[in-house]
Amino acid sequence: MLLSVKNISKEYNNGITALKNVSFDVEKGEFISIIGPSGSGKSTLLRSINKMIDISQGSILFENRNIENLKKREIELVRREIGMIFQNYNLVERLTVIENVLHGRLGYKSIFAGILGIYSEEEKKEAFTFLEKVNMTKYAYQKCNELSGGQKQRVGIARAIMQKPKLLLCDEPIASLDPKTSENIMDYLKKIVTELKITCIVNLHQVDIAKKYSNRIIALNKGEKIFDDKPEYLTND
Ligand code: ADP
Ligand code: ADP
Repeated sequence: MLLSVKNISKEYNNGITALKNVSFDVEKGEFISIIGPSGSGKSTLLRSINKMIDISQGSILFENRNIENLKKREIELVRREIGMIFQNYNLVERLTVIENVLHGRLGYKSIFAGILGIYSEEEKKEAFTFLEKVNMTKYAYQKCNELSGGQKQRVGIARAIMQKPKLLLCDEPIASLDPKTSENIMDYLKKIVTELKITCIVNLHQVDIAKKYSNRIIALNKGEKIFDDKPEYLTND
């Protein structure tokens, strides 16, 4: 088992309960979509798994290790194993595409490394192989602020896999994109995680996309899990 979420609840300081007693297990190689309307807790769930926020109750086991109550240093190690893709891409806009991909490997250090051009030829070569997977090599030396949304998310995917994560969390990766570009991004994502055997959890609000791409769908409503099964069993309500 790669990940085990056990009875987790999250209450924010403002009193909003974003997650209520949510449990599920994730096996290696699964491609799971989390669906639910805006405010249902999808983002809170992903942010709990990668320790961006602390849960109020329950436990999360990553590779059979409880990730609650970890020391700062240990949290950093867990985070290295968990990649993240965001709705707003979270790229360093003033840096080039290749610098952003290298950022995936080097973490925050590379903001300086990028400016100073400090990274090994080996790392650079690897970054190019990942750029190739998202068909972005010809934009390698272009600044990210010159790219379209779809192109930015392709860089986001390359950067996330550069980190070689065991688990990839995608928080509404296509919410800012038009339908055609959305499918294009999902095609790249699905192909790459399958090829590299990366387990993937994707937050989506489009049910049709979730059905098309995932092996399993978890539906949340008002912080509660209301469905967890194969896409073909999902009904319209
Ligand atoms: P979703 O990703 O499904 O849109 P979220 O997890 O973002 O849902 O939000 C779930 C609920 O928690 C919402 O009511 C939202 O307003 C609230 N919420 C999210 N983040 C915070 C926060 N940092 N502080 C307080 N409330 C929050
Ligand atoms: P999402 O797209 O994940 O639903 P939003 O765009 O609503 O999140 O929120 C963006 C940021 O604001 C997040 O960092 C979230 O934690 C925070 N946030 C969301 N809802 C609230 C809230 N009710 N109170 C305080 N912060 C919130």
